Amino acid sequence: HLIKNFEVKDKNKLFARPSSVRVLNDVSFELMEGETLSIVGESGCGKTTLGRCIVRGMNASSGEVIYHTEGEEQVDFLGLRGKEFKKFRKDIQMIFQDPYSSLSPRMSVYDIISEPLLANFKLTKAELDEKVTLIAEKTGLNVSYLKRYPHAFSGGQRQRIAIARALISNPRLIVCDEAVSALDVSIKAQIINLLKDLQKQLQITYIFISHDLSIVQNISDRVAVMHLGRIVELAPVDSLFQSPKHPYTEALLSAVPEPDPDYKKERIILEGEVPNPANPPSGCHFHPRCMYKTDKCVKEEPKLQDLGNKHYAACHYADQLNLRGVVHE
Ligand code: SF4
Repeated sequence: HLIKNFEVKDKNKLFARPSSVRVLNDVSFELMEGETLSIVGESGCGKTTLGRCIVRGMNASSGEVIYHTEGEEQVDFLGLRGKEFKKFRKDIQMIFQDPYSSLSPRMSVYDIISEPLLANFKLTKAELDEKVTLIAEKTGLNVSYLKRYPHAFSGGQRQRIAIARALISNPRLIVCDEAVSALDVSIKAQIINLLKDLQKQLQITYIFISHDLSIVQNISDRVAVMHLGRIVELAPVDSLFQSPKHPYTEALLSAVPEPDPDYKKERIILEGEVPNPANPPSGCHFHPRCMYKTDKCVKEEPKLQDLGNKHYAACHYADQLNLRGVVHE
């Protein structure tokens, strides 16, 4: 495989165009082959922008997405042009929330799935047929569907088509942007299981952008919590859900339903509006909505600190507060 690890670096200056508003700040993390890193946060926190910048669906004015290739070479994906870009482009794919608008209604399922291959490889018709059939089988699509058009399918089937299209060029990283959010509960579970199976078989890395914390708990190895364009907490999934270290994470987790109906938990309601990312509050950007804030929080911006065991949080009191996580397994 071409890519071994990924690393997204942002030196305080990643802008998303065309708005030219600084939407991402200090967003740096590494990704290991075959892992799932989920990115969570309220809408407007920058998680979708981050996903799009990584796949170059949106231009970042600076920052780096470094790929460590098998040959120990390091490539900045955001800086690639022309042929070089094409060579790496197929390794990173994205699956979107809305399988109704992301698939062209004028193309057959066969053409939709095979298109990324035609752009990157010279294949005979027989070779193409073989690859499309194989990927259709892997993603649970009946081969007889291939001649039909997307409007003939339900949301779950359309998402399988989108996954097949994303997979056909054998990518190393797939950014799933709310990929199951629009689906019914039972279909959601099927698509999540499909993504997990494919990951196991093919060692794909996922960035899973979602606001649904129950699904995030189920699918992730690690979770990054974003608030106003910054990562405020980053940790292995169990550690984040059981002992969150940032008050914002605690508030998000308080909304996750517990399976035990006798367990009454208090939901933390965040007061006030989400501040404007273009004009964030002073000090800790979360302070206007934080119940633990002190004078220091209003003045000083906390940096992401290493709390050990791969757990990082950007709160002055990360190692002092005893925050509540999700109780059940
Ligand atoms: Fe709350 Fe202060 Fe921590 Fe910010 S730094 S999350 S305001 S306690």
